[in-house]
Amino acid sequence: MLNDKIKIQPGCADNYDSEAISVETARQKILAKITSITATEKLSLHQSLNRVLAQDIVSTINVPGHTNSAMDGYALAGNDLPATAARQYRVIGTSFAGKPFKQSCSTGQCVRIMTGAVMPAGTDTVVMQEHIKILTATKILIATGHNKGQNVRQAGEDINKNSIVLKKGHYIQAADLGVIASIGIAEVMVYRQPRIAFFSTGDELRAIGESLNSGDIYDSNRYSLHGMLRQLNVEIIDLGVVKDKLSDLREAFKRASDKADLVITTGGVSVGEADFVKTILQEMGEMHIWKIAMKPGRPITFGELGNATFFGLPGNPVSVMTTFYQFVLPAIQHLSGQGARSPLTFKVVSGSALRKYPGRFECQRGILSRNETGQLTVCATGKQGSGMLTSMSRANCLILLAEDCVGINAGDFVTVQPFNTYL
Ligand code: AMP
Ligand code: MG
Repeated sequence: MLNDKIKIQPGCADNYDSEAISVETARQKILAKITSITATEKLSLHQSLNRVLAQDIVSTINVPGHTNSAMDGYALAGNDLPATAARQYRVIGTSFAGKPFKQSCSTGQCVRIMTGAVMPAGTDTVVMQEHIKILTATKILIATGHNKGQNVRQAGEDINKNSIVLKKGHYIQAADLGVIASIGIAEVMVYRQPRIAFFSTGDELRAIGESLNSGDIYDSNRYSLHGMLRQLNVEIIDLGVVKDKLSDLREAFKRASDKADLVITTGGVSVGEADFVKTILQEMGEMHIWKIAMKPGRPITFGELGNATFFGLPGNPVSVMTTFYQFVLPAIQHLSGQGARSPLTFKVVSGSALRKYPGRFECQRGILSRNETGQLTVCATGKQGSGMLTSMSRANCLILLAEDCVGINAGDFVTVQPFNTYL
């Protein structure tokens, strides 16, 4: 019988595959193989947004530099506050932000003070202007009920002189630019940006503008990759489309690995006849992983190519994106010196039933929205085929289903990973 002679190999549509490793194991193996970039450059503060600090930022000053008022009001000594009944005080001057009052304040006296103005000598407490009564141009009435030290910002309460404000490896965000500016630093050392080269493989791929013959498709993977990479603030090297031809692929692999820290290809990594990526990686570099228990995106290849890290992602457009988020993104973060950061995930109620067979971790495409009561819920985008890229474009999150999950009923909680911070 013919069937007896055919050894059935698990394929990428099967759920159980004893050779497949878990997503988490794969991610750890990948990260263990990647060496972070150590080359640095000095950038102006403005240019350093979304870059990774290559130095600790240490403050040489206190912020605020002087103890100052948090309110517009009247500064006085806390020990001189009225204890049992309202009392009159003489206003002996005014302290403005940037123009301090130079004399000192004694018992029965107070100083008119503005927000941010230095606390005059002899004062440690501010009564806000809404809480006093003006009697004359130089006399005010303060009632009881105030506390010593109120409405005052202490020198160094935000940043202490000589303290580390931001650590090496920190990913610089908008607030950090302000913090660094607040301690008077104009330039920072950051790691050089990772250089990421990528190309699509496939005889069927056409560039936009070319006409399509039967069986041809437009190359979309390079565009979604470009989009995902742009959001990471890395140097992008787009090497176009390469035919399923060993010599062309060898040449492209060489060019990519000469230029880049990390090389990404799409297509050509399953076991089809024209799938040469694995062959070339073994020939020119080192291959580490072959099968991952994940859907979509099981056929992915990871390895080293010269000094570059290599990812051979599947050809299917949805798989490209899901494997990018699960593996390439943490790899790029690690490469860039910030360490692999955990993406934001949280549990929400599923508004729809989700089909799922046990055996593989699944990234289904979801739409997070608020229901009538304001509660966040998630629904699947509909058909989940790995070639259906519109499912990704309609989605605003991935629904992450564990290997052992056997399906979700409407109303169950599921874990989601949002793509961005807006619905
Ligand atoms: P492969 O991994 O090369 O066997 O490709 C798997 C599927 O993804 C095939 O249907 C390909 O036509 C499709 N595909 C491969 N590369 C691309 C690409 N760059 N853009 C769109 N679809 C692609
Ligand atoms: Mg192909």
